[in-house]
Amino acid sequence: MDDQQRLRYSRHLLLNEFGEEAQERLLAAHALVIGAGGLGSCALLYLASSGVGRITVCDGDRVDLTNLQRQVVHRQESVGRPKAASAAETLRAINPEIHVEPLEERAGPERLAALVRTADVVLDCSDNFATRHALNRACVAARKPLVSGAGIRFDGQVAVFDLRRSDAPCYNCLFAEDADAEDVRCAVMGVFAPLVGIVGTFQAMEAIKLVAGVGETLAGRLMLFDALASHWHEVRLARDPHCRVCGQTRAAA
Ligand SMILES: [Zn+2]
Repeated sequence: MDDQQRLRYSRHLLLNEFGEEAQERLLAAHALVIGAGGLGSCALLYLASSGVGRITVCDGDRVDLTNLQRQVVHRQESVGRPKAASAAETLRAINPEIHVEPLEERAGPERLAALVRTADVVLDCSDNFATRHALNRACVAARKPLVSGAGIRFDGQVAVFDLRRSDAPCYNCLFAEDADAEDVRCAVMGVFAPLVGIVGTFQAMEAIKLVAGVGETLAGRLMLFDALASHWHEVRLARDPHCRVCGQTRAAA
């Protein structure tokens, strides 16, 4: 780290539990963020400001006026532009030292698998079950830690699946793909703006702890947040021995 970096990250360096080594690990890390919407916005802002050295942000949508109420990485003048490019511009303005790679595409399973292999930590900030399950499958196969977030109306949730560990549950252990799950769209359901900020920020926090090797992560736990009642609820996650995703992959390995 040079003198400018020591100043920029001085409030991390002052933390006994963080310090220079953790900051160096952060600067050397590559985070993959799928989705630059409400969850991705706050996750990306904190990953960039904290000094995650390389950030890939993947989103195939364009910024719409209805996004600006909660997708705080985008600006009024970005309406109509690709979200990935808009987010990358904001992140570079906050921290020009880091490398931000915008991907203006909706990545399918094969593309996600290739992207996941290059990352140290993966943040699921997507809004549909097809992407969530494809991303989970890719993380299980590549043994990468997955930080999963979701938020709709006043209800949020965040979970960490540290798939570097062989006994870790995966997203499919919790929400099996063949279960009757229907995508609940923000477009019709509404979403309380600060809720996705809280969940996205929580995702950034867990991702940073995972790559910096700081503290105890949320691995193996699901946090549920009720924004109307301002209430957190924690659920312990267990691996499903019959899980079609992590069971098979590990048995074959
Ligand atoms: Zn599983």
